[in-house]
Amino acid sequence: MIKEYCGVFGIYGIKDEPVAKNVYYGLFALQHRGQESAGIATSDGNVISQFKDLGLVNQVFNERSLRNLKGRIAIGHVRYSTTGSSTIENAQPIVIDTKYGAIALAHNGNLVNSGDLRHELKSRGLSFSGTSDSEIMAAMIATSGKENFEEALVDTLKLCQGAYSLVIMKNDRIIAVRDPHGLRPLCIGKTESSYVVSSETCALDILGANFVRDVSNGEIVIIDSSGLRSSTWDISAKEALCVFEFIYFARPDSVLKGRSVYDARFNLGKFLAKEHPVEADVVIPVPESGVPAAIGFAAESKIPFGEGLIKNRYVGRTFIQPSQEIRDMGVKLKLNPIRDAVRGKKIVIVDDSIVRGTTSRQIVKLLHEAGAREVHMRVSSPPNLNPCYYGIDTATRAELIAANLSIEGIRKYLDVDSLGYLSVDSLKKAVDLPKDSMCMACLDGKYPVKVPERLENLKLLFRET
Ligand code: AMP
Ligand code: SF4
Repeated sequence: MIKEYCGVFGIYGIKDEPVAKNVYYGLFALQHRGQESAGIATSDGNVISQFKDLGLVNQVFNERSLRNLKGRIAIGHVRYSTTGSSTIENAQPIVIDTKYGAIALAHNGNLVNSGDLRHELKSRGLSFSGTSDSEIMAAMIATSGKENFEEALVDTLKLCQGAYSLVIMKNDRIIAVRDPHGLRPLCIGKTESSYVVSSETCALDILGANFVRDVSNGEIVIIDSSGLRSSTWDISAKEALCVFEFIYFARPDSVLKGRSVYDARFNLGKFLAKEHPVEADVVIPVPESGVPAAIGFAAESKIPFGEGLIKNRYVGRTFIQPSQEIRDMGVKLKLNPIRDAVRGKKIVIVDDSIVRGTTSRQIVKLLHEAGAREVHMRVSSPPNLNPCYYGIDTATRAELIAANLSIEGIRKYLDVDSLGYLSVDSLKKAVDLPKDSMCMACLDGKYPVKVPERLENLKLLFRET
């Protein structure tokens, strides 16, 4: 089983100019959504070319590889996946020949029924080079009996359950799709010379593109020589954008559903301070994920905000292979305390979430070793009680610390003087989006797309092996 959280991007150029480099810039701005592989596919109107590899965007591409990607239509992808599936075969976009012509497909999200779909396709004699959901979707389109491409796409989407924000390219068009719940984000922008499709608005900014609108849940947007055309292929479901995009995943300078991610995080911190006040000398964020919430916490509590931990910005996920030696170094590789800022102080440490608790525990240990007098941990999201099946790599239920220990148990495990999580009510207020328009399943257990029992069992199996 693969869990992916990825970034997708696409450009439809109106002028006859190559756009691969602009897709490169877009992917660069989406790098936080995936660091294991990057790829771009372009169309010159007839032929689709592609280049993809494992690594960061600026490691995968150079001037020459970008020059070889010809055409004014292009899509790109950055991918993060869990260990074991980080192979070049799973890098995207996936390019496949179909009776409708060649297509390239880039996917963010996770299908909950990919096992069944793969089994069905294999029983029809299809073979797969990788293990990604995207390959399954591309193969379903390719083997459809429908007359035209759009019908084949809708047929495929109807069979796919789970999360998908897709950017698909044909020789002469780009197609943007969101699943019926809109679990993963996707938006459209425009420059003078192109339409842009992106997971997040921060990648529109890098190209100077104006935000046009979000792709709606259950919508297909087609961009071709006649402009932008939309069809709603599924109106049966309620929108359920992943709330973790606001809490942790999206870049703080992005805007989702008209809501600034930074502002939402600042608010999370404010509400957290209201719910769990504490007397302290300084509010310190866990960089960088905890920064906006820590600023909000400091503003509300009137406790000064201060840096107390410095992050080595050059720690990527890909630069070294995991080894026992690296694991033993733990969080020290990433974070180092500023001793003078910590010694003798009562500290509030703010982070966006606790998943397994292992990192948080090590951070608290660093603060103690640096001489902190008291350490109070504040978390700007509710306890993470349930696994995510829609593309955010959290953990199995057995690994989720909040699913296994009481708040007091977690406090003891982390070795902090006090611990406070944000409540679900405050999370809703802080994000401030229409009632029940977000997925919060990992926090409240209400899964918008039913999860097959087998998948849950598989998660348990993975834990035990
Ligand atoms: P831990 O204490 O080991 O549970 O790690 C908590 C840290 O993981 C926090 O700093 C979060 O920002 C970060 N985090 C939250 N969700 C994820 C995720 N899906 N993948 C990787 N890191 C995450
Ligand atoms: Fe996001 Fe949690 Fe829903 Fe997964 S379960 S999509 S992480 S809110």
